[in-house]
Amino acid sequence: MTIQEQYELLEKTIRGYNPSADFDQIRAAFDYADKCHEGQKRKSGEPYIIHPLAVAQIVAEELKLDSESIEAALLHDVIEDTAATHEDVAKLFSPTIADLVEGVSKLTRIQYATKEDEQMENLRKMLIAMSKDIRVILIKISDRLHNMRTMEYQSPPKQKQKSLETMEIYAPIAHRLGMQRIKWELEDLSLKYLDPVGYEEIVSKLDAKKPEYEAFMRRTQIQIDDRLNELGIQHIAYGRMKHPYSIYRKMFNQNKSLDEIFDLFAFRVIVENVGDCYNVLGVIHDIYKPILGRFKDYIGTPKPNGYQSLHTTVMGTDGYPFEVQIRTREMHEIAEYGVAAHWKYKQNGQGAGTEGRYEWVRRLLENQEGADAEDYIHSLKVDMFSDEVFVFTPNGDVQNLPAGACPIDFAYAIHSAVGNHMVGAKVNGRIVTFDHVLKNGDIVEIMTSKAAKGPSRDWMKMAKSSEARSKIRQWFKKEKKEENIINGRSAFEAELKHCGLSMKDVTDPEMLPTLLKKVSYPSLEDMYAAIGYGGFTAQKAVSRMQGELQRIAKQRQIEQQALEAAAEQSAKHDETVPPAPKRVKSEQGIIVEGLDNCLVKFSKCCTPVPGDSIVGFITRGYGVSVHRVDCPNAAKRNDPDQAGRWIKVSWGSDTNESYPTILEVICKDRANLLLDISAALSTTNTYVLGINTRSTEDGYVICRIEIRIRDEAQLRTLMNKLNQISGVLGVTRPAG
Ligand code: MN
Repeated sequence: MTIQEQYELLEKTIRGYNPSADFDQIRAAFDYADKCHEGQKRKSGEPYIIHPLAVAQIVAEELKLDSESIEAALLHDVIEDTAATHEDVAKLFSPTIADLVEGVSKLTRIQYATKEDEQMENLRKMLIAMSKDIRVILIKISDRLHNMRTMEYQSPPKQKQKSLETMEIYAPIAHRLGMQRIKWELEDLSLKYLDPVGYEEIVSKLDAKKPEYEAFMRRTQIQIDDRLNELGIQHIAYGRMKHPYSIYRKMFNQNKSLDEIFDLFAFRVIVENVGDCYNVLGVIHDIYKPILGRFKDYIGTPKPNGYQSLHTTVMGTDGYPFEVQIRTREMHEIAEYGVAAHWKYKQNGQGAGTEGRYEWVRRLLENQEGADAEDYIHSLKVDMFSDEVFVFTPNGDVQNLPAGACPIDFAYAIHSAVGNHMVGAKVNGRIVTFDHVLKNGDIVEIMTSKAAKGPSRDWMKMAKSSEARSKIRQWFKKEKKEENIINGRSAFEAELKHCGLSMKDVTDPEMLPTLLKKVSYPSLEDMYAAIGYGGFTAQKAVSRMQGELQRIAKQRQIEQQALEAAAEQSAKHDETVPPAPKRVKSEQGIIVEGLDNCLVKFSKCCTPVPGDSIVGFITRGYGVSVHRVDCPNAAKRNDPDQAGRWIKVSWGSDTNESYPTILEVICKDRANLLLDISAALSTTNTYVLGINTRSTEDGYVICRIEIRIRDEAQLRTLMNKLNQISGVLGVTRPAG
């Protein structure tokens, strides 16, 4: 076929699916590429233009892409291999086409080496990420397909290298994009160069049995066709041999010979609608015996890459098992051409607006949540990869970093020691600043020195990855503990001062444990160190301590006054003159002598009520707590330790309505005891908070009654009443 004939075939192919394509522009692209590549030859000796023309043919025939893609395919090597520039292409064609060509060239420039699986996955992601327009990767895959088809002209080392790359990078991408037909062809072509012996063995064995296999497939197809026609089900059915690479993989993985491979044959039945898919399945299972455990419903549960079909394996009449795939026409197109088919639907649906261009990708992704979608979501992100950037080490390893990452992120991604000893960085051979933003495909080299001072605190702000930041923090934490404590302490002190608080309150041994609990550090030093290396801030520390500190400061003041008042009282006591009640203002009905506005609380141990003889204890930071004088805790007032903290208190004339207190009734257990106790409580109009009873082993019941009571007189009445109940041995007010 002459070049001219080949071009005409291209136009004819395009016309077949897109009659309104821009044929003038396509022709112009072809002429321009032809002119640019003039004089260049392929390894086969043919003029170079053969290659872009063939790639455009694949783009049209296999992927049915739009005019822009065809033009870009024709021009795909002009920027890389000829004098033409992005500007030239943009001016002559369009900026979009220039971008597509530039995108394909960028992918061409990437050097791949054999890597571990993780590196491969990163490479694949990078290729997709670099193809800001999905058409770039579609054209690149078509380019690779044609290069693989014509690989025989290359040197054996080049054949191996390109085949490996194809097998490990391009075939998986084609698979991810759902392009099964191209994936198979890429795999088979790669296998041919990677394991020529294995490939030959399979192909020759298949060839040898070809007549037998073909006869079997023909018979089977007739059986299927006849039965479906009888039932009036519109369909297309055809059989095919499994691809050499999928057979190869099965033989290899399952260590089987070709004869042992279960499903060498696959039949496909394409029908009009989903209902017919299930009808056909029933028919197939009726004609042939299904093999258990081999039925899969990918219509109900599509594969992560969007693939839908019913799969079943049955035993053929000649004893050959075979797989049957049943699907609708649309499912078929998507299975064969993948995203390209989606692209086509999109294109026909509405114009090629940039907005919503990747709508189908999103829709696809939304549909793929769950299952083993992870694989897919991570690889088909396209514009969702915008949050990641992929760069190379000088020896070709790929590093995956967050978008906006700088050499600091890169250095720490390699190793914390590299980061800590970094003194400079080069990107694509040029020295850059530490905050230089890395781009996809950059080659980054970190210069290190043993004498490096280590990271600076500014690095924390420049680094984008949490990994780098946490490693920098670790360094400061470990290497600079002394310095951190000093820096942290001074920052903390400054913040305290700023808030009008004093360091003395914080270091008070009685306060410190409470304050440290508020910030969750075992010691002040640890907290200073954390502030120093940036794991915590002085602002946070003070704001968490502030409430407690302010409360303390206020109480300190009152406490001081209380202590003074207590001292005054004991002086008067010596004069044996009864103190005149000079204060009438009370707090909760309690007058603390010599003190106004004092925080008062009633002790839980003895629950005093008005009328009880009481005494006050000046707590540290919690005001005055009121005890009954007969409370065991109040007996401690003679302790020299507590001297000066006990203060005289008395009931004012303005006591509260009621005070909570507790009674314990001890009685012989009997029927209706609780009923009688309730009656006593009710006839005395006592407000009951709760009643608790427990039995002792020797037949007694201890009844603990929580009540609210006005004063001691009312309490005494109640106690008398309770005492009169038959079986009651005693009523007491517990204390201590
Ligand atoms: Mn090419």
